[in-house]
Amino acid sequence: MWLCVLEANDGCCVYCGGASETMDHVIPFSDGGADDMSNLVPACHRCNRQKGDKTPAELYIGWDLRHRWSGKGTAQKSDTSGLSLRDMYLSIHEGVLGLLDDLDKVAAEIADRRRRDWFLWASPWTYHYDLGINYYRKRFAEEIQKAKAEGWPDNRPESVKKRSA
Ligand SMILES: [Zn+2]
Repeated sequence: MWLCVLEANDGCCVYCGGASETMDHVIPFSDGGADDMSNLVPACHRCNRQKGDKTPAELYIGWDLRHRWSGKGTAQKSDTSGLSLRDMYLSIHEGVLGLLDDLDKVAAEIADRRRRDWFLWASPWTYHYDLGINYYRKRFAEEIQKAKAEGWPDNRPESVKKRSA
C-alpha cells in the first residue's frame, strides 16, 4: 500500500512537486478523514509537516498569502506591491481549485483497480522495516515503470487466476 501511494503522481509530492517521501492524509485524520487509500496521497516531509492538520485549501492559502504578501499596508490596500491582502485572496482561488483538481487526479490513480491489484500481487515479499521504504522503491523502480508502461498487467499467480476463472 505504501509503494502504491508513494509511486503515484510519478513519485512526486502533490503539493510542491518534489520527491515524495511520506503519505499525507488529504482530509486530516483529526477532521474525520479516512485512514485508508481513498484519503492518502504522496507528499514530501516538508509539505506534510507544514500541512499538519490543515486541509489542502488551508495549506495553499496560508502558503500563498504568506509568500506573496509583503505584510505592509492594510488588508484592503498595500502600499508596496499594489496588491491588497483581499486581492491576493481572490486571485489564489484559482490556485486552490487547481490543487484540488490535481488531488482528484492522484486519488483516481491510487484508486485504479488494475494498478492497486498490480501492487498487491507484486509484493508478496516480506517487508523489513529496518531496510526502509526507499530500499523497496529502488529495488522495484524498474518493475514499477515497466508495469506502468504496460498499463498495469494482470500479475496474479497462475494458481489464483485459475481459482477465479
Ligand atoms: Zn512537497
